[in-house]
Amino acid sequence: MHKIRSADHALMREMNLALLLECLRREAPLARADLALITGLTKAAVSSLARELLDARYVRELGPDLGNKGRPSVPLMLNPDVGYMIGAEIGVDFISVILTDFAARVVWRHHEFIHSRNQAAVLDRTLAIVAEAWAHTRAQGQSILGLGLGLPGLVDVSTGTLLFSPNLGWTEVPLRRLLEAKFPFPIYIDNEANLAALGESYFGAARGCDFVLHVSCGVGVGAGIVLNRQLLAGAAGLAGEVGHMTIDPHGPRCNCGNTGCWETFVSQWAVFRRIQAAVIAGRPTRLLESTGHDLEQLTIPLVVDAARRGDLVARAALEETGAYLGLGLANLINALNPERVVFGGSLSLAHEFVLPVMREVVHNRALRWSQEATEIVIAANGGDSCVMGGIATVYYRVLTGPLATARTTRPAEAEPAHAAQPAWA
Ligand SMILES: [Zn+2]
Repeated sequence: MHKIRSADHALMREMNLALLLECLRREAPLARADLALITGLTKAAVSSLARELLDARYVRELGPDLGNKGRPSVPLMLNPDVGYMIGAEIGVDFISVILTDFAARVVWRHHEFIHSRNQAAVLDRTLAIVAEAWAHTRAQGQSILGLGLGLPGLVDVSTGTLLFSPNLGWTEVPLRRLLEAKFPFPIYIDNEANLAALGESYFGAARGCDFVLHVSCGVGVGAGIVLNRQLLAGAAGLAGEVGHMTIDPHGPRCNCGNTGCWETFVSQWAVFRRIQAAVIAGRPTRLLESTGHDLEQLTIPLVVDAARRGDLVARAALEETGAYLGLGLANLINALNPERVVFGGSLSLAHEFVLPVMREVVHNRALRWSQEATEIVIAANGGDSCVMGGIATVYYRVLTGPLATARTTRPAEAEPAHAAQPAWA
């Protein structure tokens, strides 16, 4: 009985610490009296909790440090220097890693294209780049609060395993275990669309929103749903696979094995397919020239550039894609009633052509009351959406479980956990 009571007490304390951190994230600087007013906790409780957060360095007092911690009138804020966070992404043809402070300001970054989908080679490079980020962190006298890695496929978040990536052709890769074997800090693995959604919710176009639907369209199509700053995982952690909702049962075959999935109408391949069909139909386009008469070389930036120069084939391909985007979005808005829809991925580079049509179709098809409550905006983090989401997932873990993070971060700091001669060197 006594044990249960002390476990309850520890849990309650962690929840109250998280509550103060969340208040400071939203509204800092705040004095202890303000925190007591906002949270309903007593001033004595806030003082005690604040001291713990100051000691753990998650929080600092605004103004010069006079060595006299605990002055009730001095405002508090989150401490950007409590540690660094790593955001990483393995894409279909690239690896991207960023390192930020606790205010999510980028202090180091590395992006490289990969030309092979060989799993061992890609994983070796990923581990090597993360090791570089860690070396940079130690050189700055900092510690790592955690790493968030995004992957283009289905991820079992509880084990950190990539279950299946149709676009990489990988199955059952235990990414978290591989990273934990090399690094001593907490590792979080998730689907790239989920992380992008969390990143936009904390540091992008959906800051301050309680219910966010982030739809990312590029090579594939995925979504992340963030409710009260937390990703909606689903029973098996696979919520948000909106790219595979059926739009037309007689439509094109999808990578997932089904036919007529939304993805087959709105991914970048759908845009390229529309352009190829127009060329076969004999319609003139400058895209033939800009791709050296090889339409396999099409990219979204090339199509956007052509559309801006008045190319009707490019423009029509983007607008038709926008119409199908609107169709799927209207369904999602009716189903979920989100406060904000954030549109990201490479297709968002074409927003000036895609968005007006998308909005019009949503206007014509979604229930009036649902769409009136929804705002559709463009993602703010651009090409960094997933890595910023990796940062956001670490940030979220620290804010909601500061003591747990401190326990896993501190002891390992003294000595690098991997051997002097790393396995991938
Ligand atoms: Zn599919």
